[in-house]
Amino acid sequence: MSNFSNYIAGEWVAADDYIKNINPSDLSDVIGQYAQASSAQLDTALDAARQAQKVWAATGLEKRYNVLMSIGEEMKNRAAELGELLSREEGKPLAEGKGEIFRAGQFFTYYAAEVLRQMGDTADSVRDGIEIDVRREPVGVVAIISPWNFPTATATWKIAPALAYGNAVVWKPANLTPASAWALAEIFSRHDLPKGLFNLVMGGGSSVGQRLVESAGVDAISFTGSVDVGRGIAASAMANMTKVQMEMGSKNPLVVMDDADLDLAVSCAVGGAFGGTGQKCTASSRLIVHEKIHDAFVEKASAATKAMKVGHALTDGVQLGPVVSETQLNSNLAYMKLAKEEGCELVCGGDRLDMATEGYFMSPALFINGDNSMKINREEMFAPIACVIKVGSYDEALSVSNNTGFGLTSGIMTNSLARANHYRRNSRTGCVMINLPTAGTDYHVPFGGRGDSSYGPREQGSYAAEFYTQVKTSYISSGSPE
Ligand code: NDP
Repeated sequence: MSNFSNYIAGEWVAADDYIKNINPSDLSDVIGQYAQASSAQLDTALDAARQAQKVWAATGLEKRYNVLMSIGEEMKNRAAELGELLSREEGKPLAEGKGEIFRAGQFFTYYAAEVLRQMGDTADSVRDGIEIDVRREPVGVVAIISPWNFPTATATWKIAPALAYGNAVVWKPANLTPASAWALAEIFSRHDLPKGLFNLVMGGGSSVGQRLVESAGVDAISFTGSVDVGRGIAASAMANMTKVQMEMGSKNPLVVMDDADLDLAVSCAVGGAFGGTGQKCTASSRLIVHEKIHDAFVEKASAATKAMKVGHALTDGVQLGPVVSETQLNSNLAYMKLAKEEGCELVCGGDRLDMATEGYFMSPALFINGDNSMKINREEMFAPIACVIKVGSYDEALSVSNNTGFGLTSGIMTNSLARANHYRRNSRTGCVMINLPTAGTDYHVPFGGRGDSSYGPREQGSYAAEFYTQVKTSYISSGSPE
């Protein structure tokens, strides 16, 4: 079995410890063994990043543009091959794996172009003879901590802007998905970058991750993951006055009004709830449905849910792969039990499934008679489990929709312009979808939420500059020409 090293200070570095990376669709398939960085190796990465960042920030814009563009094009060209690897280790269906790699490539090509768009402001001073120049400079060394559910996309929407704006990166990917991370590092290793500009430090969250976020050698931390870990990271960042940006999931509502196109609503609800096996921070897990169309919606949604094909992520036609790990599966099954105890009525699904290969398979579950105060409607489950909450009016739908500690995405299915517009303006989330699923966002516009969903500046698009740069205001008194 192959061993895969970390990439630190421009070298492939072996470790004392390795973890096995196992395919959740087939537990007999071991993808490889992946190095776990030591504390000393992490320190080496941070020191190298500090030095490399100075060189990179002084490197011409066209070179920076060329490197990012080349990485992006390679990812797009290799989407089929790298997508298969991603699906093998994470469990999402092959089409989603390929799509994720292609999208990751687009983050690089988008931010390649952003390299050339680094414009600032100029102004005249209120004092005579003085001019002002306002421009953005890199923050320095950025720690990136990414999750397993979008192992390549989430990481690249952080890495690409970090590098585009002149920073160095120390990246700790999730230990459940190291192969996709290693594959990206391998692409970096073949590009002409200062040694140490990009470092891959695989290892556990509570060891390498914790040490990274506590380090005074880090200028900014970008994290995506759970709320609990995010709170701890924020506390560590505060101790060093380190800039921090975090995205921590949600409990996204999809409102279905009585005037909605029912078939479209069902397809958005089922796709949004169960795509990626429900393991999306943008998943529609609360389906808030008007009583007038409730029964018709449930009938169609139940049929669509039952029709979803669950199976090995690499099998043709599979729409739902396994969940990512045994821990996640056990957590999902515990939520199934809890939902029934809380009084929800199960329409279909929620069973562990036996397949041709041993893996973490379960059928997508649809509950009805849910109440918004129930735990399954308040806690992020990250599971293929959705719950219908019946409401009697638009006002009630909006109120239930906003009644959550989270606030990442929300959606409404309606043919009424008035309701759509009112919802768009009054839904307390970072992203609002009209007649679209709550999952599925673009790469050239800001992404992020409110409440427990996000903390710090927005990610993606040109808004990413807010986090990956710091503003300098220069005052210039040129004097009089002779
Ligand atoms: P975590 O928050 O534990 O993991 C996210 C990342 O943080 C991983 O790279 C993890 O490393 C790392 N990490 C864990 N602990 C620390 C720490 N103390 N310091 C620094 N980094 C750390 O999420 P889980 O993977 O355990 O998933 C649990 C739940 O979190 C999910 O069920 C879901 O509800 C939510 N989640 C939300 C995501 C989102 O997109 N918003 C993404 C992933 C999870 P490692 O995994 O290697 O230990």
